[in-house]
Amino acid sequence: MILLKNCYALYPDPADPDCEPLRGVDLLIQGNRINRIGRQLPAPKNGIPPAAGSGASAALQTIDASRCVVVPGFVNTHHHFYQVLTRNLPAVQNAKLFTWLVYLYEIWKNIDEEAVLVSSQVALGELAKTGCTCTTDHHYLYPNGFSADLMGLQFEAADRIGMRFTPTRGSMSLSKKDGGLPPDSVVQTEEQILEDSLRVIEQYHDPSPLAMRKVVLAPCSPFSVSRELMVETARLARSHAVRLHTHLAETEDEDEYCLRKYGKRPLELMEQWEFVGEDVSYAHGIHFSDEELEVLHQSGTAVCHCPSSNMRLGSGIARVKEMIEKGITVSLAVDGSASNDASDFLGEMRQALFLQRVRYGADAITVPQIFALATRNGAKVLNFSELGRIEEGWGADLALFDVHKLAYAGALSDPLAALLFAGVDHRSEYTIINGRLVVRQGKLTGVDESDLTEKANRIAARIQKIG
Ligand SMILES: [Zn+2]
Repeated sequence: MILLKNCYALYPDPADPDCEPLRGVDLLIQGNRINRIGRQLPAPKNGIPPAAGSGASAALQTIDASRCVVVPGFVNTHHHFYQVLTRNLPAVQNAKLFTWLVYLYEIWKNIDEEAVLVSSQVALGELAKTGCTCTTDHHYLYPNGFSADLMGLQFEAADRIGMRFTPTRGSMSLSKKDGGLPPDSVVQTEEQILEDSLRVIEQYHDPSPLAMRKVVLAPCSPFSVSRELMVETARLARSHAVRLHTHLAETEDEDEYCLRKYGKRPLELMEQWEFVGEDVSYAHGIHFSDEELEVLHQSGTAVCHCPSSNMRLGSGIARVKEMIEKGITVSLAVDGSASNDASDFLGEMRQALFLQRVRYGADAITVPQIFALATRNGAKVLNFSELGRIEEGWGADLALFDVHKLAYAGALSDPLAALLFAGVDHRSEYTIINGRLVVRQGKLTGVDESDLTEKANRIAARIQKIG
């Protein structure tokens, strides 16, 4: 049970342009839900035990929120945690996507169980420390000989950090010898992929509204899987009511590959391969034509915008402003740690705000629109109907930012926008997930950060040996 006292500015729905901040209110969390919002709430005398398995504490924790902006926790809709171990590699600091991938596949084939467990904790920890309370991960790389339960390791990492986690079962089946981009050493057979996809759904997927574990299926991209795998994966996901995800329209090289191999553009292929619809989201979505935007709108397919990665790899600027105007669902994502190379979620929101202005001008996109991408739209993409707003009865996923710091001095005429326009480190003071304090006074509560950092550096040095 957590009681936030005297919030400086609480925004129940920062995606709503008319949302006024609640000043000086308290907020009580019981179990994994927001119980009450009001002035001078009395501290409950007898804690009501939280729901079984909620992970929340029955003991009352009181937090002084008088210096903090309080917002719904952010939802990250695309990532590749394992890439933490190959951030910032000099050989590909200046490479575009296909060159970057071909170089990195040779290193990524070295990942093992420890690499998955530790890199996942690092990425999840960084996300939690910058206000993210729910995330996916797109792990598509299963090196030959890797026999452990990879998704199980990732769930173990999420439990340690305290993150609400909806990983995808990614996949690659089309290697160089079949005309794809990855080497043989990192792809699986389609039988293996479909069998394991079914296993993880049956073993881990929880359809309940505030699940800590959901599963999504996600073939990697049109240039690393076959038509058959895409179609079979879509059918399998729909027969179990789980969501679908893939990379699409990220680069012009991808357009050329699809035209050369199939005589069609990437989105035409997805339509033909049953990979469009309200249960589908695409990472990036940069190179869509006007007609293709109409297909996204008509089909209800969502786009996960990754501004830092798109800038870093020189991939282009997604047409987010136009997508929003058309009514297409756009969410936000940091993308993998080898193309960002951070998991700074609040920082990503600032990048999204500014990148649209490069393409469309200073009034291209507003602060509430960015919050819509980061909260309600992310929750929609990952299929959570009771996350994304601060409301009595809703899930207790919150981010608190201390704005009474030097970096925000003079910016408090609009405390919400100050989070995007000002600030230097983007770190939350507190992050609450499912009614539990995951970040307290800027530090992760579930792991020792120094220890984790050392482990990650040691594994990165080992993994980065090519061969
Ligand atoms: Zn990606």
